[in-house]
Amino acid sequence: MGKWLHNALKPTDIAGSGPHADMEALACLIEGKLGGDERKKLLRHLNRCGQCYEILHETMKDFNAEPSDAPNPIPWWKTRTIQALAASIALLVLIGGPLVYQFQARQSLITSVELILDQELKDIMLENDNLQWTNEKRIRRFISVLNKKGYRVKLFGRVVLSKPYYQVKSIFGPEEVLHIRIDDDVAYLDIKEAQ
Ligand SMILES: [Zn+2]
Repeated sequence: MGKWLHNALKPTDIAGSGPHADMEALACLIEGKLGGDERKKLLRHLNRCGQCYEILHETMKDFNAEPSDAPNPIPWWKTRTIQALAASIALLVLIGGPLVYQFQARQSLITSVELILDQELKDIMLENDNLQWTNEKRIRRFISVLNKKGYRVKLFGRVVLSKPYYQVKSIFGPEEVLHIRIDDDVAYLDIKEAQ
């Protein structure tokens, strides 16, 4: 178990890295049809990728929400598989560190996020070089991008950057990590190069 967890939680895996899980693979995982390395690989990705994790979470909710008098009730073994899967993901998330935020998000809105700055986020960052944003539309867009990535953040009406953001010129430049901390009505943003 220790070795397996160690393998599953390589610190070199940065949030969102690697190919995203497709729906078919997620469905197979939920139905318990995925085994061995494929299952491990997918769980590892899910632990690191808010987007896919959220999709899986929603899919599992759908499975559980189906009424029992439906024409094709879910067989008992499937329900068991889902519960076991939910437990193993919760465990990974708890030990995995950064995604503890996501786990807590089930109960409450998160006030601290760390994620890879992708093009969608960069576009918003580069709209202008103000160190403070109060533009409601821009903030709403920013929040909706975070939600789309699976981060249910506490709402805020103002954004404060620690320093101006400029796009890294080279496409081979290091990945950047966006740190967000929400306090009162303000989101504090800090961007650092990924280690
Ligand atoms: Zn993914």
